[in-house]
Amino acid sequence: MRERCHIFVEGIVQGVGFRSFVYTLAMRKSLGGCVFNDSNGVVIELEGERADLKTFLECLSDNPPALASIDRIVHGSAPAKGETTFRIAGSRPEAQRRALVSPDVSTCADCLAELFDPRNRRYHYPFINCTNCGPRFTIIKNVPYDRQSSTMADFPMCADCRSEFDDPTDRRFHAQPNACARCGPNVRLLDAAGAVIVTTDPIEQSAQVLQEGAIVAVKGLGGYHLACNAFDSEVVARLRKRKSRENKPFALMAPDFDRVKWVCRIDPEEEALLCSRNRPIVLLRIGEPSRLAPQVAPGHRFLGMMLPYTPLHYLLLKAVNQILVMTSGNLSEEPVAYEDAEALQRLGQIADYFLVHDRAIHVRCDDSVVRSVDGQEMIVRRSRGYAPRPIALAVPFKDPILACGAHFKNTFCLAKEHYAFVSQHIGALENYETFESFENTIAHFKYLFGTEPSIVAHDMHPQYVSTQYALELKGVTQVAVQHHHAHIVSCMAEHGLEGPVIGVTFDGLGYGEDGAIWGGEFFVATLVDYERRAHFRYIPLAGGDVAIRQPWRVALAYVIDTFETDPVLLGLPGWEGIGRGKLTLVQAMITRRLNTVSTSSCGRLFDAVASIVGLRHEVTYEGQAAVELESAALDGVEDRYAFEINQGSCWEIDLRPAVRNIVHEARNGEAIGVISAKFHNTVVSVIVEVSKRLREQEGLRQVCLSGGTFQNLYLLERVIPALRNCGFEVFRNIQVPPNDGGISLGQAVVASRKVQRSSSCA
Ligand code: ZN
Ligand code: ZN
Ligand code: FE
Repeated sequence: MRERCHIFVEGIVQGVGFRSFVYTLAMRKSLGGCVFNDSNGVVIELEGERADLKTFLECLSDNPPALASIDRIVHGSAPAKGETTFRIAGSRPEAQRRALVSPDVSTCADCLAELFDPRNRRYHYPFINCTNCGPRFTIIKNVPYDRQSSTMADFPMCADCRSEFDDPTDRRFHAQPNACARCGPNVRLLDAAGAVIVTTDPIEQSAQVLQEGAIVAVKGLGGYHLACNAFDSEVVARLRKRKSRENKPFALMAPDFDRVKWVCRIDPEEEALLCSRNRPIVLLRIGEPSRLAPQVAPGHRFLGMMLPYTPLHYLLLKAVNQILVMTSGNLSEEPVAYEDAEALQRLGQIADYFLVHDRAIHVRCDDSVVRSVDGQEMIVRRSRGYAPRPIALAVPFKDPILACGAHFKNTFCLAKEHYAFVSQHIGALENYETFESFENTIAHFKYLFGTEPSIVAHDMHPQYVSTQYALELKGVTQVAVQHHHAHIVSCMAEHGLEGPVIGVTFDGLGYGEDGAIWGGEFFVATLVDYERRAHFRYIPLAGGDVAIRQPWRVALAYVIDTFETDPVLLGLPGWEGIGRGKLTLVQAMITRRLNTVSTSSCGRLFDAVASIVGLRHEVTYEGQAAVELESAALDGVEDRYAFEINQGSCWEIDLRPAVRNIVHEARNGEAIGVISAKFHNTVVSVIVEVSKRLREQEGLRQVCLSGGTFQNLYLLERVIPALRNCGFEVFRNIQVPPNDGGISLGQAVVASRKVQRSSSCA
């Protein structure tokens, strides 16, 4: 007795070998029918014996293709039509676009084997790929995803490639970027002025100039990199100078995993992240002694390391046979270059050569950065390999929403139904190029995911460009979301929590409802509201943004708050160097509250301690002092400093007793590593103590930790077990960054809930 069955599959099911998989499965069971893509996913019509249909469905949900990610399978039965053959039908675009777009995927093992097989027709072909690997998000212009709607449209397939593409049993069946040296994109080597260098092997030639100490701009998947030999101090220093990047660490790419172990200490979880098909940059402990150029990551205990993820990288790294600096192709602060003409123009002053190719990058997408904490991934920057995979939420969004994110480390989030599409890393919205990237990527996401948002969420900071962008949009409901509430909700939403929870959010800065800069906050939070229950005691931040670049200004505020005198008079190390004149001036600003803003920022507290102990008085990038303070912290120190919690409607966490002790110890020459560890332990105690008091009052057991400070490994690795030991259930961000890169997800959820509540009240 034959039956007919109609199946609809939703999720990342296009461009991942899904139809080929379905075809093979149907053929094996002798089922009739067809499979095709539509704008929402994959549709399967099946006809056969009831038992076979049942097994088919089981295989579909239990063993889908490696890259597929199924969110939902809906099926229903229909009368049999007598179909006995199975075919793959053409895509059917529909009015509503819901199909998901796969992130870019690193080269798979099968393609890699062919790449280095001299008998294979794609031997050394730098764009080899198949349905299980290759570019996706960065080349897709439109959905449903096929070759014509990607930047591969410019390359008609040769007969050999076409026959693979058309053969449902081939692993390149409908691999949209399928190509070979005869029909596909190819590489060229250019000099700094853009003139082609005549060579039979541009990759081999690039490797040679790299070995000779050149800086080469390499066109990758989502943008250009700047590459140079990581063991050559002279060239790394030259790259820093030309890129105007003083101290911020450079990422590295190693030819293979063994070479990573030369320079890093690595555990199995880190290895898994490094080798995953997302191929992020993984932050790894630097091994001792390090033979890398000291300019690669000055003052850091961690290195950003990645493995090759495109065939071009594999070929280049194999030819160089050396670890390379692979830093984003931009001048400091600008977005990464991804268009060829623009890259030549912007990077011409930095790079000596350009290794380019003629497959266009449609979307800019930086490398992602992750680390392993407690055996679990922590995302520091969510971009290539991760975006635009949506975060699936337990409760659907009623109306489509755009959340504009924060100012630094900006991402935006487009949300509809069960999905939150968090964009790739956009960056600090501080220059026109980055803002343009923000606007264009929003337009692309709206188009790709077929959504016109009716609600727009934004930060409360009136001067954020993202806020101004949101407020200028017409015909939408605008919802302001407090920065730290968004942090907490990003964590709650990921874990499906409705709250109320104890929300601990520590970061550099976020606009508070009282006009102060918040950043050391304890909330009792739900998805729609929060109560601010405790925060670090306010100190005056002298000179606003200048105080972020000059931690000594924050240190001065803490010292004055504690001692009513300045650090030089207290005999603190390195303070004479700041200059009497500057100190007197800023001291006056602080005592008279001139050009100051009050802050409870935890990031600034870390800055202050770094400066008080003489570790760093000025920084060249945000978070530098805090990272160096963390790097200095010694293991095995159990002590901490005292602090007070002053009662009131909102508790004030008073760290003056700690500052008093830190000053005392710094003056008496106590090791920075010991002071740093004790300070970190103090912050752990603050979190545990305040959480316990909130539990006593509210009976809450769940604690969510979010905000940039929670990228601090020393802190996180101590506070999580400490809270658990006290019986708390602890949550942190897993799928989005705890820093401002995760804010947009929280904003989307809060705004959605606020609008729902106000419409149900109306
Ligand atoms: Zn492959
Ligand atoms: Zn071909
Ligand atoms: Fe923040």
